[in-house]
Amino acid sequence: MHLLEEKIKKEGRVLSDTVIKVDSFLNHQIDPQLMKEIGEGFAERFQQAGITKILTLESSGIAPAQMTGLSLGVPAIFARKRKSLTLNDHLYSAEVYSFTKQQTHEISVSKDYLTAEDTVLILDDFLANGQAALGLVDIVEQAGAALAGVGIVIEKGFQDGRKRLLDKGIRVESLAILSSLENGEVRFAEEEASV
Ligand code: 5GP
Repeated sequence: MHLLEEKIKKEGRVLSDTVIKVDSFLNHQIDPQLMKEIGEGFAERFQQAGITKILTLESSGIAPAQMTGLSLGVPAIFARKRKSLTLNDHLYSAEVYSFTKQQTHEISVSKDYLTAEDTVLILDDFLANGQAALGLVDIVEQAGAALAGVGIVIEKGFQDGRKRLLDKGIRVESLAILSSLENGEVRFAEEEASV
C-alpha cells in the first residue's frame, strides 16, 4: 500500500503526538482511486476467509467497507451512531468510547442484516485504543456470527488497540502502521524496522 503511505505523508496533518488528520482523502473528502486500492488490499488479505458481510461504523468506515465489499462480492453494513425513527428496535447495540470525540455513544445494527450464518470482516478507518473495533466485535458476538478479523486503514502502532484485539484472539490486518507522530513527523512501522 505504497500509495496510502504516500498520501498520509503528503496530506496528513499531525495535530498532536497521538492524532493525525486525514480529511483530504479519508475523513471528509474521499479519494475514490485510493479507496479502490484499499478495498482490493483488504480483499486480498481476507480472500480465503469465507467472508459474507463487512461490518463498519459510520461515517468514515463506509467508503473502505463499500470498496472491500465490491472486491469480495459481499454487502457492507455500517453500524449507526444514533437511533432514528426507522431504526429503533430489533437491534444489536454496544457502547463505544470515541477516541477523537472523547465521549461514549451507543452504536446499533439491525438484526435483519447480521445473523449466526454470517462470517464477518470488521473494518475501520483508524485503530487507536481499539474501542470502536471492540464495540463492533460485541455486535458480531451478539449476532452469533463468526469473526474473520479486523481490517484497519491506518493503525497507530504506538497505541494499544492491536494488543487488545490480539488478546481476544482476533486477527488484525492494517494497511498502514504508524510508529510515531512525535515532533509533528509521521513515521511508519517499517521505517523503524529497517534502521
Ligand atoms: P479507537 O476506538 O481504536 O480508540 O479509535 C478509533 C476511532 O477513533 C476511529 O474510528 C477513528 O474515527 C477515530 N480516530 C482515532 N485516532 C484517530 C486519528 O489519529 N485521526 C483520525 N482522523 N481519527 C482517529
